[in-house]
Amino acid sequence: MDAPYLIRAKKLVTVSERGSIADGGMLIAQGRIAKIGAWSEIEEHLQGKELPLVDCGDRVITPSLVDCHTHLLEFAPASVYPVTEATQGAGGISLLLSALASGITALGEQICGHPNSRCTLRHYRQFAAQVPMDLTFSLSSITIGFARLAHFTAATGSRPVEKEQLLDPHILQTLAADSEYPGENLFLNATPANFTPDQVPRAGEMIYTQAELNRIVDLFHAAGKPIGVHVGGEEGIQQALDAEVDVLHHAHGITERQIAEAAARKVRIVATPLGGTHEPPNSPEQIARLVEAGVPVAISTDAYLPPHPKAFWPPFAKPTKAGRGLLGPDVLMAIAQPSMQFLAERGHTESEILSLITRSGAQILGKEHRYGSLREGREANFLVATGVPGLEIASVEEIGQVYYRGVKVIDRLSGRAGE
Ligand SMILES: [Zn+2]
Repeated sequence: MDAPYLIRAKKLVTVSERGSIADGGMLIAQGRIAKIGAWSEIEEHLQGKELPLVDCGDRVITPSLVDCHTHLLEFAPASVYPVTEATQGAGGISLLLSALASGITALGEQICGHPNSRCTLRHYRQFAAQVPMDLTFSLSSITIGFARLAHFTAATGSRPVEKEQLLDPHILQTLAADSEYPGENLFLNATPANFTPDQVPRAGEMIYTQAELNRIVDLFHAAGKPIGVHVGGEEGIQQALDAEVDVLHHAHGITERQIAEAAARKVRIVATPLGGTHEPPNSPEQIARLVEAGVPVAISTDAYLPPHPKAFWPPFAKPTKAGRGLLGPDVLMAIAQPSMQFLAERGHTESEILSLITRSGAQILGKEHRYGSLREGREANFLVATGVPGLEIASVEEIGQVYYRGVKVIDRLSGRAGE
């Protein structure tokens, strides 16, 4: 659908310096936003030229969502479905489609190595190509907090490795070279992953010395790559700040002093209010503190995950559970909502707040110049919804349509007029 068309709605939330535009519209051409503005500006721009119009009436148009930290292709398929090696790809593709139907058109995918997956980055890219969305991959090593710690790396696939190999320069160079963005490239603390506390008694244990971490960070930077880490708790966060890590994933338990230090060092944070570490996850107050301290922060699901018992849920946003009690990207709006509404109470604008699940995630992925906001020249990746995602709505059923590069790829509105 490269032919130009117009789209108009009661309100556009641009997540740019233009803020929210009442009775606004866009001219979409060749998959990009050719013009955006108040409807009167669009009409003036057209100078009487007739183009097909999609009128969204009293719905709201916003950038589509970005979930910049997920595990949908490698870890999740076997957790959500009883798949085998032969059907892992089909499982992953199904989870991508579910994310797309949740309004998400960009994901940051972690490839960590997995005992039951012999797929490589090449396979994961092939699966991703089946669904109209943009995936950015990060290659990691992972340490799971079993009684005997289990280590894997994306470079060694399904074969477990010893701690010493996590420091192997050849392995690290492969991870750095093939990482497209700073995801959780290494786990400073052993992770509980999807296991129950009795299964992972060593979750949270520190894995690297300061000197080891400094060496790894230097190796990534020498390869021209920023690095991100999985980290929770004051000790691990301090180690990451001291080593000049670029992105902290989770940062559960970050202290006031560390928030100020992160801001001064221009460190970015991916908050995961659903869980993901041994520590209680980010609270709405903590996320607001980060935003107000000037730390660039994105909210992400880390899906699929079992919700942490101390995760903060609004009473009206009950999540629907996928297989085995794990939650997926369909809860992105719901887990972000308490923080987003708290920021609204504190006087932040709709665009500043919506950035948490759109533009900020695109910044983490290094793709802010392509999407994450509604501006002229950006990819036409947007939603048509009954309200502002995360702020006013938390259920995916409220997202009527999803557009990716100008093409309508999800539609809950057509054919439902009589319902
Ligand atoms: Zn993760």
